[in-house]
Amino acid sequence: MTSSRQTKQRVNIWWLRRDLRLEDNAALYHALQQGIPVQPVFIFDTNILDDLPSKDDKRVAFIHAVLLKLQEQLSNHGASLDVFHGTPREAFEHYSNKYKVVAVHTANDYEPYARERDSEVAKLLALKGIAFHSWKDQVIFEKEEILKDDGRPYTVFTPYSKKWKAGLNDFYIKSYPTSSYFTHFYQQEALAIPGLQKLGFNSDAYKFEWPKIPSAIIKNYDKTRDTPAIAGTSRLSLHLRFGTISIRALAREALRDNETYLNELIWRDFYQMILWHFPHVVGHAFKPAYDHIPWRNNEKEFDAWKTGQTGYPIVDAGMRELNTTGYMHNRVRMIVASFLSKHLLIDWRWGEAYFAEKLMDYDLAANNGGWQWAAGSGCDAAPYFRVFNPALQTQKFDPKLEYVKKWVPELDSFDYPQPIVAHDFARKRALEVYKKALNED
Ligand code: FAD
Repeated sequence: MTSSRQTKQRVNIWWLRRDLRLEDNAALYHALQQGIPVQPVFIFDTNILDDLPSKDDKRVAFIHAVLLKLQEQLSNHGASLDVFHGTPREAFEHYSNKYKVVAVHTANDYEPYARERDSEVAKLLALKGIAFHSWKDQVIFEKEEILKDDGRPYTVFTPYSKKWKAGLNDFYIKSYPTSSYFTHFYQQEALAIPGLQKLGFNSDAYKFEWPKIPSAIIKNYDKTRDTPAIAGTSRLSLHLRFGTISIRALAREALRDNETYLNELIWRDFYQMILWHFPHVVGHAFKPAYDHIPWRNNEKEFDAWKTGQTGYPIVDAGMRELNTTGYMHNRVRMIVASFLSKHLLIDWRWGEAYFAEKLMDYDLAANNGGWQWAAGSGCDAAPYFRVFNPALQTQKFDPKLEYVKKWVPELDSFDYPQPIVAHDFARKRALEVYKKALNED
């Protein structure tokens, strides 16, 4: 009798997902504002973890390392993360037994799985009399905030970006002053965070440090961004993906220092907006006619592409960079994606899935947008007849072969394979196949 009568601690839950930081955090700010002790919660969601193709996933190791850092920070405020391993449904059954939960605050996520998950969780909580609040945090403008004058979503980037810039003011990029309310965290001893092995992973531990905004790189971004051999881009995609940096802080810097950089952040918003309004892009071409392309889907060629053995040095360099580091420079992502879908006529979804497996910064909206752009099937895509010429791209963006030789050191030796297909032949074949499938005769 006594135990069931024990009063449970009244809390607001802050459910962290793609916003893994304490500073300038929308959901945390709103949770702390209510004056009810705030309990931070993270769920290692088995619906997602069980589907990962490898048990040596660097992203799980990354998240794990960030949680350990957050735990350190929280314990400085007398608080603790509470980490659950299971489905969100199981997690909220557990937390609503453990605490007297008043409300759950979290950040919006625009992916189809996340939308379904959140509506299921909201329903479950409603039955228990618990409020569910979801806040915009990971983009500057979301959902219906930037629409055409006729009320429909944009599908072309340039007019979208103009409206985005016209709509921007201090309100959208101001920082949420979470630290003024850190005394509102629920006070408890640090709880244990399950180790990677307990979660079923054998990845090496990730050495995580909080990122700093690379101001000098951002200042010169328009001049350096297309040179894969140098550190000319911000390398923040991983941090934007998991929210270990605030998009608002970055947008403020971009606005001050470099419009080209700001445009990249707008592309990010653009693809999130596309995913929200057109969820059919997951698994289908944005432009339905492109679903009629008879892909060759040659498995051997796909393997050569994956392993960086196509005989096209810039393509192979990119794929080896990806396989080794979990990252690839944007210029090279465009080249390898065009090569797969056009030179080899392999379904862009195969490439998309391979990137999803390997990229540390994997993000459904940006990856799908990038692949559909390269394959020509996307909303504001490169026209189908634009087939990147790997040799010309190399001349232009890696003229001294510095990037290529870093990843393909055997370039000049007999060990390096002959091109898997001749460029002129492949280009002609792609144009014919695309033209026919799109009925453009
Ligand atoms: P920077 O050049 O410094 O750009 C700053 C930030 O802007 C990036 O961190 C990123 O968040 C955003 N950004 C830049 N370019 C784009 C873009 N084209 N679309 C959306 N956001 C952009 N980006 C991902 O974050 N995750 C992905 O899974 C992903 N897959 C891609 C697949 C293909 C085929 C292509 C062509 C591009 C893909 N991109 C993806 C976009 C882009 O290549 C990366 O964001 C960028 O290379 C990351 O490096 P960075 O942080 O140094 O970027």
